[in-house]
Amino acid sequence: MPTVVIAYEAFGDYNVELETLRESGAAVIQAGNLTTPEAQQQAIDADAIMVTIQKVPGELIERMKQCKIISRVGTGLDAIDIPTATKCGIWVTNVPDYSIDEVSTHAISLILMQARRLPLLVDMVRQTGWYSANMDRPAQRLSTQTLGVVGFGRIGRASARKGRGLGLNVLVYDPYASKEDVEAEGCTSVDLETLLRESDYITLHSPLTPQTERLINATTLKLMKPTAYLVNTSRGGLIDEQALLEAIQANQLAGAALDVLTVEPPAPDHPFLKEPRITLTPHNAWYSEQAKIDVRRKGAEEVVRVLRGEKPKFPANKL
Ligand code: NAD
Repeated sequence: MPTVVIAYEAFGDYNVELETLRESGAAVIQAGNLTTPEAQQQAIDADAIMVTIQKVPGELIERMKQCKIISRVGTGLDAIDIPTATKCGIWVTNVPDYSIDEVSTHAISLILMQARRLPLLVDMVRQTGWYSANMDRPAQRLSTQTLGVVGFGRIGRASARKGRGLGLNVLVYDPYASKEDVEAEGCTSVDLETLLRESDYITLHSPLTPQTERLINATTLKLMKPTAYLVNTSRGGLIDEQALLEAIQANQLAGAALDVLTVEPPAPDHPFLKEPRITLTPHNAWYSEQAKIDVRRKGAEEVVRVLRGEKPKFPANKL
């Protein structure tokens, strides 16, 4: 009987996974995450493992002699050593389409929160009973503003569409997207420097790769408008966090809203937690009740397919 290790506790229960995996006839082991030696040993002995955002390093993959699939129950693949998995003949899959609507809406919500000064106004009413000109700051009509979208994949494209729907002028930087494709969505394809110089809101949607790591750093932050607002719902590693903090404190940009950090959760003394111009949400952009079911079902379906000897639907590698 094959064994499937579920190496996460993120969703509270395993009902969706157990129901979906039932038809594979596999024994299912709930192994917590992969940080303990026991959990690692269970992964080493498994025919399939299911993971969320924890690291799956090459040294562990090389010891997983029976494993046929590492199913990433989510989208980002940056924590899995895919070249080693490929070398070992193990499929790596993800669920690329479970939260396109949720993450793009989250990014746009963070932009609207800033554009319409929502935290400020809510705070103002709480503190003063109604309106106080002293506490207020100017707002701009969205149709006069430019949104810069970095990464024009599934989520970036959905964010661009929603931004266009709100009347924003949308610039796109994606070295792999064609100009025609970008223009077909009513957006303008530009280089990164132009996007950073001209955008009032910048939203990051590229994956974390060696090319995108610290894409936003002391040098690129200097290109932004002092009124610009940065939103990141992709991966914390896209931003040099120390440089971002310094840039905001030096008024090089207006602020940032981040759903993702390089280390999650942040340490209790993380300076972002004390900086009022930085808003954090707890890596929750993906969440809706529907997305939560979809991602687990689709992640488990990949395992069932591969254990049946079929090709997965969303392979991240070629075997
Ligand atoms: P996708 O693969 O559909 O799109 C990524 C896009 O980034 C592609 O168009 C690609 O060409 C582009 N890209 C690659 N390298 C680039 C570079 N150097 N500069 C600019 N663009 C580049 O992925 P997606 O589904 O849109 O997801 C994007 C990311 O969102 C994921 O990698 C994941 O990390 C993150 N994500 C976060 C959450 C959350 O809850 N916060 C949920 C899902 C996904």
